[in-house]
Amino acid sequence: MPEPVTATPYDGASAFPDTEPGALPLAGPVQVGVTALLAAGPLAGLAVALWLAWGRGVGLADLAILAVAYVITGLGVTVGYHRLFTHGSFRAAPALRVALAIAASMSFEGTPISWVATHRRHHAFSDRPGDPHSPFRYGTSVTGMSRGLLHAHIGWMFLRGDAAPADRYAPDLLADRSMRIVSRAFPAITAASLAIPFGVGWALTGDLRGALLALLWGGLVRIALLQHVTWSVNSLCHVLGRRPFSARRFDRAANFWPLALPSFGESWHNYHHSDPTSARHGAGRGEVDISAGVIALFERLGWVWDVRWPSRQRIEARRRTPGSGTGPGAAPRRLPLDCAPPEPSRESAAATAVH
Ligand SMILES: [Zn+2]
Ligand SMILES: [Zn+2]
Repeated sequence: MPEPVTATPYDGASAFPDTEPGALPLAGPVQVGVTALLAAGPLAGLAVALWLAWGRGVGLADLAILAVAYVITGLGVTVGYHRLFTHGSFRAAPALRVALAIAASMSFEGTPISWVATHRRHHAFSDRPGDPHSPFRYGTSVTGMSRGLLHAHIGWMFLRGDAAPADRYAPDLLADRSMRIVSRAFPAITAASLAIPFGVGWALTGDLRGALLALLWGGLVRIALLQHVTWSVNSLCHVLGRRPFSARRFDRAANFWPLALPSFGESWHNYHHSDPTSARHGAGRGEVDISAGVIALFERLGWVWDVRWPSRQRIEARRRTPGSGTGPGAAPRRLPLDCAPPEPSRESAAATAVH
């Protein structure tokens, strides 16, 4: 696969060169069909659930199943896929690594190997040509940003040729036998994540209707909510919010507080892009970061170690100087070129993302 265009001049405002007609065609029909099913199916489930609940409410048991399933699979993604496997923010006992990988697989967001490879590439090329899901891909006009947000949220998964090769971006996971096994078991794990709420509902109510409702709320509704929260970190959190910390040139990751709770702290995305290996993303005062709290709990239990907690000096050193023009509400088009550090080479950028 041709490497993306790091040598191509990019001015921070134009569309990426790979948006030229035919440069990145749609993926094959199987990938398009499966992606469409995995994206539209949970949304359809959410619509059915809301329709059934209209005027009648939702059973407490169904809400509890939804909450438990959302927390387990969501923390699998944020603590496991993201902070542990992608960025190496801490080291974990083998059993916990496997448990996190299984929990995250249940989110229907891809295997450990594919998720990590894609995300490392996102950090290596943030918001410039080569980024698999930048909302700035189609330029910074109103039309371009609208297309770009849709692309960053979901459209990128339908394109061919934008995949991150695992041998380049996730060789450590490829070399890890347990991660290869979990990745191969992905279809079975996702199926189990639907079967478990169905079984719990059956056990609680003893009838098919109760089992199906539990499947709806603990399966499809849970998947839809978590998918769109995760995808919003890729789309909204690169466009909306504050950018108090410096990041690499063109990188527009922002701290977007409305998603802090549902994303378990991942929406403190500006600090994360400024300091990718930090185990804590919510670095400012009052920035709730549930994933960091869970990592701290695991540390106390002795299940994880070598946690990269950022010191106060490290956090302050990353703050932008006052008056750099990126305060709250700054429009994306004003941001591209200001006060960013010199751009590292592609290799060092990839290394930054990994280590
Ligand atoms: Zn990002
Ligand atoms: Zn990251």
